[in-house]
Amino acid sequence: MSLRQYTHTMAKITRKPLLKSRSTVSKRGRNLPGPSAAAPKRNKPARKPVVKTGPALRAKKSVGALRRWTSAEVREAFSRFQKANPDPKGELEHLNPYTLLVAVVLSAQATDAGVNKATRALFAVADTPQKTLALGEEKLRDYIKTIGLYRTKARNVIAISEKLIREFGGEVPRTRAEIESLPGAGRKTANVVLNMAFGERTIAVDTHVFRVGNRTGLAPGNTPLEVELELERVVPPEFMLHAHHWLILHGRYTCLARKPRCEVCLINDLCRWPEKTV
Ligand code: SF4
Repeated sequence: MSLRQYTHTMAKITRKPLLKSRSTVSKRGRNLPGPSAAAPKRNKPARKPVVKTGPALRAKKSVGALRRWTSAEVREAFSRFQKANPDPKGELEHLNPYTLLVAVVLSAQATDAGVNKATRALFAVADTPQKTLALGEEKLRDYIKTIGLYRTKARNVIAISEKLIREFGGEVPRTRAEIESLPGAGRKTANVVLNMAFGERTIAVDTHVFRVGNRTGLAPGNTPLEVELELERVVPPEFMLHAHHWLILHGRYTCLARKPRCEVCLINDLCRWPEKTV
């Protein structure tokens, strides 16, 4: 073979070390133990198992174990929610689709009340992407520094505002894929914005909806997406628009994680949770 024919690819192939045997051969031809035999094999420290307790464990255990609600029962539950609260509202304060989007992004791992406290002053000076960019990241951080992960969130809000101006004419887009393409916005954000800003029949599954769906047996699922898809399957179309608000409010004020208020619960006769207190 001439030198010209000797390519880099061939060099890689021919220089590949032989790894078949772990033993090495001494000059006298005797097999000596290889490095793995010389050094006792160290076991990786066992990872501590994550032990779920309390409501999370009970909700997990109940997935698929409870008897399914009949369609008549689902309809009855949502009829009661509707009668008690015909026009339920989300609790994140906002002025327009853009401020709603910002509020939802800020609300990740934070309470609505905490977000509202910060955004009241922020939205008074920055209720459009253009105004947010004019404010700048540093000042934006000052407004939201009481909210967890505020540095990352401020960076995302600035990036969202830039992208909205650059790609969407400064408006919040109306499709799930477009909203999910914004920095810091996931499926839940898209569902909330599509539902509250544009009246789409989407269901955003937060921690409350996840718990209520599983605990009651209404929409069991191992992940928020599974619960969302199950709710989409079982909730009658006429209740879809407000379904996630009713379930959020039910989880936040009645079906509390640690001490559910079963005695005042509107659906306590329909609920399948074995630990309900009525
Ligand atoms: S009965 Fe109790 S556990 Fe069941 S939905 Fe009502 S509050 Fe929750």
